[in-house]
Amino acid sequence: MKEIIIAIDGYSSCGKSTLAKGIAAMLGYIYIDSGAMYRAITLYCIRYGIINNSIVNHELLLKHLNKIDIRFQLNALTGNNETWLNGENVEDEIRKPEVASNVSIVSKISEVRQKLVAIQRRIGENKRIVMDGRDIGTVVFPNAELKIFMTADPLIRAQRRMIEMNEKGIQTSLNEIVENIKQRDYIDENRDVSPLRKAENAILLDNSYLSRDEQLNWIMQKINQA
Ligand code: C5P
Repeated sequence: MKEIIIAIDGYSSCGKSTLAKGIAAMLGYIYIDSGAMYRAITLYCIRYGIINNSIVNHELLLKHLNKIDIRFQLNALTGNNETWLNGENVEDEIRKPEVASNVSIVSKISEVRQKLVAIQRRIGENKRIVMDGRDIGTVVFPNAELKIFMTADPLIRAQRRMIEMNEKGIQTSLNEIVENIKQRDYIDENRDVSPLRKAENAILLDNSYLSRDEQLNWIMQKINQA
């Protein structure tokens, strides 16, 4: 099979990463969670007081930006590509509610996007990757061989996220999750830089009522066609 890039974009908590991981495992490709990179910068901003009460100190952020090193490292035990921030494994930390509620604000900043898009393109130089996010098919890899745009019913998305968080021992209410999802989608779709959009040539996937296997079968057909 030809070596390709698979770009998966879509709304928050649609199961993009579950699908992307499944595809990567089936094809022997690398899976890259671009959202984790935005979350890692957000965590850094929280720790260094660069974001306070949802307001980013832009000047301070610019001073810190080139001190932020984000990379992925494979955890041989779990088989997951984990997120490291300046030499620290932050995979769990970046999933916490405080990061989730600030990440879309940090993601609006063009200098943050420029930095991360450059890293993402470097990772994709040799193709054989599945990357998920909000602007992968539109901005990061506009020439990706296969682009999927995912959506699902907001309540179903919130329920799935709640199960995931409970499994990780993070306590939160369904209402809180619904509000966070709605707020993130709104900011992601309405920001000036790289707003969340379906690329013209992306294939729409509404997975509200599809099992993981049904989604994987569906996508394998699309991969074979691509
Ligand atoms: O995918 P995930 O929900 O973890 O992404 C967290 C946030 O990071 C999104 O809500 C969005 O604000 C931002 N993001 C982005 N562009 C990407 C990936 C994520 O702006 N390519």
